[in-house]
Parts: sequence; C-alpha cells; structure tokens
Amino acid sequence: MMNIFEAVREKIPVRAAAEYYGLKVRGGMTNCIFHNDRTPSMRLYDDHFYCFGCGKCGDVTKLVEGLFGESPIQSAKRLCADFGIEHIRGSPPKVKTKYVSTQTQEQRAFRILSDYCNLLRRYRTEYAPKSDDEDLHLLFTEGLTKLSEYEYYCEIFITGTKEEQQKFIEERRNLLGELERKLKLDQSRSAQDGQVCSA
Ligand SMILES: [Zn+2]
Repeated sequence: MMNIFEAVREKIPVRAAAEYYGLKVRGGMTNCIFHNDRTPSMRLYDDHFYCFGCGKCGDVTKLVEGLFGESPIQSAKRLCADFGIEHIRGSPPKVKTKYVSTQTQEQRAFRILSDYCNLLRRYRTEYAPKSDDEDLHLLFTEGLTKLSEYEYYCEIFITGTKEEQQKFIEERRNLLGELERKLKLDQSRSAQDGQVCSA
C-alpha cells in the first residue's frame, strides 16, 4: 500500500512538476530554488532532484515544499490535486472507482424498478376486488395506475443509453430510495407471513 508521498513520487516526474510550476528546465537542469542560483545547477531526475551548488536534494514533494513554503502533506496534496491523482489509501484510482460505482447505480436502479413492477403486478391480482360493489383497495389502484409507467422506466435500463439512465437516476434519486424502502418493507412482511404459514 502506497502512502501519499510514495504515490506522487511514483506518478509525477520531478521535471514535470518543475515545469508545471513555472521553472525553466533546460537539458534536465534548472536554477536552484533553495539558494541564489545564477546558472542552472539543479539537476532534475525522474524521482528526485539534486543541486550541485548547495547540495540540496529531495523528491517531488520536497521540491514543491521549497516552491510554496508549505508543509510536506500540503505539498503532496497540492500535487495530487494539480496532477489529477486521487489518492485514497488502498483504493483503486478514481476513474475506476467512479466507473464501478455508476455501474452499480444503474444495476441498482434497474433492480428496484423491476422489483417494483413485480410488486405492482402482484397488487393487481392479490388486491383485486372480489365483487363489483367492493371499494377498490389502495394497493390495487396503485398496481393499476403505476404499472405501465414503471414498465416504461424499466425499459430505459434495458434499451436506453447510458446518458438516459444516468439522467433518470439523478432526477429520481429520492424516488428510488423510497421504492427500495417500500420493497424491503414488503419483503420483511412476506417473510413474516411465510413464517406464520409454515408454523
Ligand atoms: Zn541549490
């Protein structure tokens, strides 16, 4: 497991950081920032620098410390931010995490929506009025009015584009959460029913 200092040392060449922060680099040499240097006497390697004038040497974090006068951790964080490195101990790089999490979000949305459709179908049969003069059960009405709408939503996650799916998730985050709770409640209720029946 890499700590933040090791991560920036491995991923950001000292030379790249020097140039990014405005040092003039020629032939791998630059004017030393640690002493009053008139000719470039600091050599930049991939993983460290060394000044032939004052003998100062260090890694990319040390260089940034010298440039901005910040603490080592602040310097390393600055490097991460400026070079787009997401450093979380023991986690994969950000891009990958993001990809995985959106995948899961879409799968989750589809699961919730299709489970809810199944629930609505069940409502339509289980709570159907047994006679003409019987008041319509609230759940029966729910099944009746909402099924086609939610079947359409499911379609988005079967045939829709990634953009449409993500838009749906963003716009209906609360709704999805509500449905998920509703489904859980229904599950625990039927589990209890099951126990009663088997007893
Ligand atoms: Zn120097």
